Amino acid sequence: MRYQRSSILFKEAQKIIPGGVNSPVRAFKSVGGTPIFIEKAKGARLYDEDGNTYLDYISSWGPMILGHAYPPVIKAVNERAEKGTSFGMPTALETEIASLALKMIPNMDKIRFVNSGTEACMSAVRLARGATKREKIIKFKGCYHGHSDAFLIQAGSGAMTFGSPSSPGVTQGTAKDTLVASYNNLEDIEILFKEYPEEIAAVIIEPVAGNMGCIPPKEGFLESLRFLCDLNGSLLIFDEVMTGFRLAKGGAQELLGIKADIATYGKVLGGGLPVGAFAAKDEIMKHLAPEGPIYQAGTLSGNPLAMAAGLATLMALHNDLEIYSRLAKKTQRLETGIKDVLKNKKIPYQINRMGSMISLHFTDEAVVDFETAARGNIKRFNKYFHGMLNQGICLPPSSFESYFLNDALTNQDIDETINSLAKIILSLR
Ligand SMILES: *Cc1c(COP(=O)(O)O)cnc(C)c1O
Repeated sequence: MRYQRSSILFKEAQKIIPGGVNSPVRAFKSVGGTPIFIEKAKGARLYDEDGNTYLDYISSWGPMILGHAYPPVIKAVNERAEKGTSFGMPTALETEIASLALKMIPNMDKIRFVNSGTEACMSAVRLARGATKREKIIKFKGCYHGHSDAFLIQAGSGAMTFGSPSSPGVTQGTAKDTLVASYNNLEDIEILFKEYPEEIAAVIIEPVAGNMGCIPPKEGFLESLRFLCDLNGSLLIFDEVMTGFRLAKGGAQELLGIKADIATYGKVLGGGLPVGAFAAKDEIMKHLAPEGPIYQAGTLSGNPLAMAAGLATLMALHNDLEIYSRLAKKTQRLETGIKDVLKNKKIPYQINRMGSMISLHFTDEAVVDFETAARGNIKRFNKYFHGMLNQGICLPPSSFESYFLNDALTNQDIDETINSLAKIILSLR
């Protein structure tokens, strides 16, 4: 049986870890079946506990942009580990990675390191609220900013009512300060700014959405958002946890040419170790403790192993002038190949892509926001997912996730992926 050992491990895990996993998407709940348990990975390939091999299009949800077990990263972590793994005191390494990160991302003076994207976004919102002395934030439906309470909010009935908790455990009190708008919909934003004048501290957005599939912003959308934030004295937070150091050295800010007031990072920045960060201009950052009164802290923040992995990753990205165009070309090859296979097959689909983020949606209408992403044919997606997995192609186990290509994938690997799709395509009709 192909997944025998994984299924035994999953059963054991379920007895003592909720759902058998430490993060819900790993449980394969939306696609069904048994999650594969990974033994190791190298380059573009994952090896599971049953001895199956896969081409990896998840890349740990983004971080492994250079491929798994990338030698300079492994070397950097090993060397750091020999010198001790945590001190709770500053290291030169932190300034080194901060300096390189700020060189790569546009428009920011200072950066603070934390342990996850969740922490980065949570802290960015606190900073925005403290700096503007306002309490409300606007987020977009379908954008994910980690699991802190302020973000687990769904739209109320009608755009003008405030949100309600999307998870038990989040209080109504928290929900009332998070307003929810539709992605790519300016009207929603205008209504909210009009309804809550001088109350909105910040608008937080994934500049290219990656948590409802890949959804690029419509032309002019982010520009208008920038304009409306300025007009209303609100800060614009770009959540670049996904897009940072992935779409370009300077992330979406650079690629799309729009400046945010605060930007959050994670994923690629940690090179596969737990890292998040938020960056801003000095006039905003100066409010943060210990310089200013807005509190934020972390025992393991700036951890030397994590900083070593992050620095080795950033250095590789910084020194390789072709990496982003190469990743985009590979992803385009995948896009073209999928389109060729799907041609005249009477299977409605959309492909969204930006740089090395891409998603396939089984629907005939353009996927521009959460609603249109949700109208995709889930049954067909699940068949597609399992059909590909059985042939050794590991895609994200949910139609709401983007693929993240890594640089270790070769053209040959991508062609193999397209051939695998060709083999199962008739079963998807
Ligand atoms: C993954 C992600 C987060 C959360 O990061 P964690 O490290 O999982 O806490 C926040 N925002 C975006 C856009 C993400 O993709």
